[in-house]
Amino acid sequence: MKINRIIEKACAGDAVTREECIALLSLDDASREAFAIRGAAAGIIRERNGNAGYIFGQIGLACSPCQANCSFCSFAKNYTQFRTMEIDKESLAEKTKEFTYNGDLYGLYLMTMHEYNMGHFLKSVEIAKASLNGPTKIFSNVGDTTYEEFLEMKAGGIDGVYHCWRLGEGKETTLSPEERKRTLYNARKAGLEVLDALEPIAAEHTPEEMTEHIFFSKEIETLQCGAMKRIAVPGTPFEGTPEISNFTLSKVAAAQVLTFASMRRMPIMGIHEPNIMGYMSGANMICAESGVNPRDVCKDTKANRGWNVARCRALLKEAGFRKIVLGDGSKVMI
Ligand code: SF4
Repeated sequence: MKINRIIEKACAGDAVTREECIALLSLDDASREAFAIRGAAAGIIRERNGNAGYIFGQIGLACSPCQANCSFCSFAKNYTQFRTMEIDKESLAEKTKEFTYNGDLYGLYLMTMHEYNMGHFLKSVEIAKASLNGPTKIFSNVGDTTYEEFLEMKAGGIDGVYHCWRLGEGKETTLSPEERKRTLYNARKAGLEVLDALEPIAAEHTPEEMTEHIFFSKEIETLQCGAMKRIAVPGTPFEGTPEISNFTLSKVAAAQVLTFASMRRMPIMGIHEPNIMGYMSGANMICAESGVNPRDVCKDTKANRGWNVARCRALLKEAGFRKIVLGDGSKVMI
């Protein structure tokens, strides 16, 4: 009965409390209630935007042994197998064209390291924008950044900022949770959209801990959120450790959607790694990936873990989405 009441509240757009979010995340994955919240979340997110999905793309621009040393990342200085590298202009233009060949891409993340060179980054933004086919938005995915630097990026043409106060921040990473959050506030103050996710989720993360992060995403009015599991990346301390299942991950996504249902604007919801259960549980966005990737040890993830746009589109169609939202908000049939 308690879970039914939470579902009714979410369907009505009433605010789900922290205690209720904890109750959702605490459900047995295979319980009737957990299946009920998956279905309700999928129904809510599809009702809110006419059963349309979103395709994003990410290009990894550069990598080097990263001082932040996050223990789940293939670029961390103590564990990386990568040499320092940077994508050349031609490859960036080619990857951008490849992602936007049919104009379906809603947003393109340009990702680089925690420490990055602003001049190089702005040049990459310029190249990507000149190579776009369609109204795709450009989002940065970089390290901690000041308000003034975000103003520079905004002037350079970005629309928003992916950044994240991650689970285990300050323990599995050497970064300050407060600094990570401040970066998101800086982006908002600069007039940029903010995008984040609940990541990287592993079995030790409690419902209480995840709830704090979900409510932070709500507070910053994220444009896009999502649920991402921790990958046991070879060479990192997590190599060989069990990852949570997509089944568990789908319940987490459903709890997020029910908690976000009272927001002025329902966030776009991703799921990593992409899987049909996620799209039947409230996710509506999928991300193609190219270039280096912190969850991969292949120097171009498109040859390994990364998906291409056609595959993303096919999975959204398989999950029953009828339309794709483009970067200017218009919709096309899948
Ligand atoms: S996750 Fe980001 S900040 Fe952490 S080591 Fe990797 S690149 Fe650096």
